[in-house]
Amino acid sequence: SKELGQNKYSFFSQELHQKRRSRYMIAAQLHRALEKSEFSLVYQPKIRLTTGEVVGVEALIRWHNVELGTVPPDLFIPLAEDTGLINDIGDWVLQEAVAQVQQWLGQGCAVPVAINISARQFQNGSILQRIESELARSGLDSRWLSIELTETSFMDNAEQTAETLLALRERGVGVSIDDFGTGFSSLSYIRTMSLDHLKIDRSFINSITESERDRQLVKAIIAMSQALGLSVVAEGVETPEQLGLLRELGCDQAQGYLICRPKSAEAFVEWCEQYSA
Ligand code: C2E
Ligand code: CA
Ligand code: CA
Ligand code: CA
Repeated sequence: SKELGQNKYSFFSQELHQKRRSRYMIAAQLHRALEKSEFSLVYQPKIRLTTGEVVGVEALIRWHNVELGTVPPDLFIPLAEDTGLINDIGDWVLQEAVAQVQQWLGQGCAVPVAINISARQFQNGSILQRIESELARSGLDSRWLSIELTETSFMDNAEQTAETLLALRERGVGVSIDDFGTGFSSLSYIRTMSLDHLKIDRSFINSITESERDRQLVKAIIAMSQALGLSVVAEGVETPEQLGLLRELGCDQAQGYLICRPKSAEAFVEWCEQYSA
């Protein structure tokens, strides 16, 4: 059994070693990803359920590196947060998304764009100034821009976060709560934070056609949001049954593979033309 114990130990230490190394490798590549222009944005539409019209688009970051291949954001965003790189990456996302809507405006096919902001970007207190200066620099009207943030952003420094959200909304920038229902915070922040949209997490939408419990939860979230004047977006809609049920429940907007997968800017414009034709 001593032998087994040793094997076990060496197995785990090897795995740990590998994990550390790959994390280290990814971090090393991440440091140079911006200067090497390895990031891009893809876009996924949100539609209004009553009319079917495209009411907005979410920008999602992609990273392609020669050595690592395509690294998913769920993997490198946390790393970017730990290393502080998230601020520069966030600035790039903001600039790129703003430039994209401006191009769409020029082509006469613009929809408001939402960017994701991670909790760490919110914590350093400069997000308001970063967004303001980008709007001033670009001259873009703020109604074309909104932000999506998760409940974790409210955990530290709730007071400052509330002030920042209020300031953003006063300037015309939309604010959405992302992944609603998965965070650890209580409902109290909904009372104190200034918001426009609430996005119901994919995990609830996933099971609404099978689970009565989740269906009731989604129904309650929709009722609560509407009572508070917030619009509700269902994310991760994959089946016509889910879409039908959400429509019945009075959900305002939907997003998901069923409607459209995230696409490059060019492919998104093509999709829009086909969709509205
Ligand atoms: P999120 O903001 O909740 O984005 C939704 C994720 O679900 C996206 O994954 C999207 O591609 C995926 N998705 C959309 N529709 C469906 C569907 O019908 N089914 C399934 N299974 N998935 C669907 P993605 O692009 O891999 O992004 C993962 C997360 O990474 C995002 O979750 C967001 O938290 C973060 N992220 C993405 N882009 C950025 C960014 O520019 N900045 C920051 N800070 N975080 C980002
Ligand atoms: Ca999001
Ligand atoms: Ca989400
Ligand atoms: Ca998410």
